[in-house]
Amino acid sequence: MIWHFDYGPVRYFQMARTFLGRAIYWTGVYWVDGLLLDSGPPNLAREVRRLCEELAVRQCVTTHHHEDHSGNHTLLREQFRITPLAHATGVARIAKPESQPQLYRRVAWGVPTPAQAEVIGESLDTPNFHFQVIHTPGHAEDHIALYEPDRQWLFTGDLYLAPKLRYLRADEDIYAMLDSLRRVIALDPVVLFCQHRGRVENATAMLRRKLDFLVELGEHIHHLHRQGLAEGAIARALPGSDLFWRIWTGGHFSKRNFVQAFLRVPKNKGRSQQRSHSQV
Ligand SMILES: [Zn+2]
Repeated sequence: MIWHFDYGPVRYFQMARTFLGRAIYWTGVYWVDGLLLDSGPPNLAREVRRLCEELAVRQCVTTHHHEDHSGNHTLLREQFRITPLAHATGVARIAKPESQPQLYRRVAWGVPTPAQAEVIGESLDTPNFHFQVIHTPGHAEDHIALYEPDRQWLFTGDLYLAPKLRYLRADEDIYAMLDSLRRVIALDPVVLFCQHRGRVENATAMLRRKLDFLVELGEHIHHLHRQGLAEGAIARALPGSDLFWRIWTGGHFSKRNFVQAFLRVPKNKGRSQQRSHSQV
């Protein structure tokens, strides 16, 4: 199933595999001025091929290696002679994807085939636009966002998703995500384009809301941890329910992942440099 949204020169294709006529998990790709942002999940290859035949796709950038974003890179290369561009840390992951992703990922998106990508530079041009490439790790180490300074557009991949999250993926780095959010907020984008949500107005304010929410959540988790609560008890004390997502993803998405991520020593930091809760 593909829905098509026109945002002026930017087109959004929201797509999902369906079960009994209902979408299992929405994701999406953008097309702007011949540039395809992400290639969609492997189980929607037929739809993505048709889309590429209808659009004048000249180049492709992948925001990160997850299969719902890079799942049709082989198709692009073999049938359209386009080698997608990715952050340097994503090229090897795209070339050797996980062979046994969790069941929910196989059901929702399918299993990706190894694909070739090339390392993206610091910027990228289309005939009418200029994009700055911003490395925004956190959701994934190789995650990038594209910023168009004249239009103040920010293509956020999976960096934004929502101002409040009820769960985190097990492999996300929350401290890197906070840092990435701060850096894209400093760009002062007006509009953001989220791969799962479509266009979001008031981009800087919405990104700020997400950052503030996560900082508060981290402070709350550290507060409960200092009081001696165990991880499970802290997770249960956090607002909202993650029950559906925890069961559906076998625990890959959960509130407990938030607890573990915030209590983890930030990468490249010694224990002596571990951030206090006030610095989250
Ligand atoms: Zn992702």
